[in-house]
Amino acid sequence: MSNWKIYPMDFGKIDVTPVGMPYTISYMGFLLDNGNKKILVDAGIHERVIVDGKAWGGCPAWAGIQNVIDALAKLEVKPDDIDIVLYTHLHNDHAGACSLFTKATHIFQEDEWKNLLDPMPNQLLIKDYDLGVIPELKQLKCVKINSDVEIEDGIHTYRTPGHTVGSQSIGVETGKGLYVLTGDSVLFRREMYPEMNYLISAEGKKVSLPPVPGNTCLPNPNTTHNDYDWYRSLSLIKTLIRDDAKYLIGGHDSENMNKVIPE
Ligand SMILES: [Zn+2]
Repeated sequence: MSNWKIYPMDFGKIDVTPVGMPYTISYMGFLLDNGNKKILVDAGIHERVIVDGKAWGGCPAWAGIQNVIDALAKLEVKPDDIDIVLYTHLHNDHAGACSLFTKATHIFQEDEWKNLLDPMPNQLLIKDYDLGVIPELKQLKCVKINSDVEIEDGIHTYRTPGHTVGSQSIGVETGKGLYVLTGDSVLFRREMYPEMNYLISAEGKKVSLPPVPGNTCLPNPNTTHNDYDWYRSLSLIKTLIRDDAKYLIGGHDSENMNKVIPE
């Protein structure tokens, strides 16, 4: 039986007020450990994309590859200990520190790689991707996948496009059920459960949120590339988590920070 543990990690912060969300959110990564293998889900941001203190969308940000090294060190893990880096997608805050993990196999969806190689003008403007990771990933051992794959016993990928064309979610079998790491397919639980009236900011503060019209799941125009795909992916994730928010681990949901899951 698979018995993975999930360690959400703090890779830095970004204040998303300039794009209409008045709070600071965490850059996050997740260590998956079953006592035999170590998998890192998402690799943080590189400081080269934080220019004059601002990153994606002109938002102030505080992060870099040292944050990734420090967060792993808190768990007594060195970059060379990581066997696999699994990317939910290749946005700048999820792939930036890839070059730290020279011993690992790096796994992502092929259409995400194609988008990174040839971003649309609006993606270049808002700085969705860090083009600096292209030559770095080319030096690393990469596996590009095109479907849902069993990566290890108890670790599955599920294609969940919408946020990006090649986004995927990661299913993790634990001793207490399947948890799903959604990357930015679902940034916060509130996106799937709009009746939630709060969010935990990167500072650990409870921020009250205004009601969503009709308690309807609504795609965020700043973070959704394709609304049709996003709704379909939301349905799949909802099925995987058995419609229980507890099993949903969003890509920037500070609510999970520094926990060990399952608790
Ligand atoms: Zn993203």
